[in-house]
Amino acid sequence: MTHPLSDRINSLPASATLAMAAKARELRAEGKDIIGLSLGEPDFNTPDFIKDAAIEAINQNYNSYTPVDGYLELKEAICTKFKRDNDLEYKPSQIVVSTGAKQSIANVMQVLLNPGDEVLLPCPYWVSYSAIATLCEAKSVEIPSSIETNFKITPAQLEAAITPKTKLILFNSPNNPSGVIYSKEEYEALAEVLKKHPQVYIMSDEIYEHINYDAKPFSLAAIDSLYDRTITVNGLAKAFAMTGWRIGYIGAPEWIAKACTKMQGQITSGTNCIAQRAAITAVLAPISKIQYMVDEFKTRRGIIIDLLREIDGFKVNVPDGAFYVFPDVTAFFGKTIQGITIKNASDFALFLLEKANVATVTGDAFGAPDCIRISYAASELQIREAIKRIATALS
Ligand code: GLU
Repeated sequence: MTHPLSDRINSLPASATLAMAAKARELRAEGKDIIGLSLGEPDFNTPDFIKDAAIEAINQNYNSYTPVDGYLELKEAICTKFKRDNDLEYKPSQIVVSTGAKQSIANVMQVLLNPGDEVLLPCPYWVSYSAIATLCEAKSVEIPSSIETNFKITPAQLEAAITPKTKLILFNSPNNPSGVIYSKEEYEALAEVLKKHPQVYIMSDEIYEHINYDAKPFSLAAIDSLYDRTITVNGLAKAFAMTGWRIGYIGAPEWIAKACTKMQGQITSGTNCIAQRAAITAVLAPISKIQYMVDEFKTRRGIIIDLLREIDGFKVNVPDGAFYVFPDVTAFFGKTIQGITIKNASDFALFLLEKANVATVTGDAFGAPDCIRISYAASELQIREAIKRIATALS
């Protein structure tokens, strides 16, 4: 039976990352021993100093509605963080705190995009960018990349993709799913192109900022000519192991921040009071307090890359940050293994789920159909076991 749902929801794809995580949970409930490497979620506890701040907030009776755009103290703390980490000057009136960076991104797209506007998505891109653009009746325009170009786009590709209808481009560095970080020089070269097209707004999703291994990521808004049309998105989920606390935020031109506040005021209001109080402590904390998690991710990166490279057919780049590997698996396309014919990355991810009991995510969801995403935000033991199972299933 078909239910009378709106065209809007009927045309919306489910989030591939969340769908795979749900499928893994379902199989586990049926008694299957699934190793979940599909979700980008740190396996650490939220650090005690942040939990203590939340407990204190509860005891201090922070229980009322919060300002729609966030507590002033939190917005001031975020301005301090932007200055300290990104060399960015923002005033509290340019900050909007939301229920996770996903809501921040959705707010920005909803306030900027009209039906028919084009949104440029350098590939690979995070799954929800294109879905949210669809919700805004905008058109996603992918700019392809591959493992051969280390998953980066060139200024020439950017120039060729811009049309009079282009309204927004989304950058994400460190990138989910490829882990790649654009250098300052690479961003400056892309900015030279953007300079010529003042109608294009820029969203820089920096949620994985602190999870970098060799070089600190560069903030696009730090390029003077782009500052007035760049929205910097960040949040606490990844670096502070606070996925469930749902705190994201933007630094943006004031008129965009105001519009996002208006949008949020009609949809969710201000985000959770306790999480916001804890967030003040988190964003002001020295990075050294969370470095142990980054160091651990770096160790795991080395382990997973070495193990994957031992399996014939996996082409793996070395990610600069985040906690994903994004191997090219085209070598398996067209093969039949254990009775399953693998035509594409989705088939391959399903094969791994069925025959190796390992959950990953197909690259199609990220605009990169040659690859699959494997999260290494899991224990070393789980990573070793998962890759062993994959090797066995394929051999
Ligand atoms: N951002 C994470 C991921 O890509 C969490 C899941 C989601 O919200 O998509 O796995």
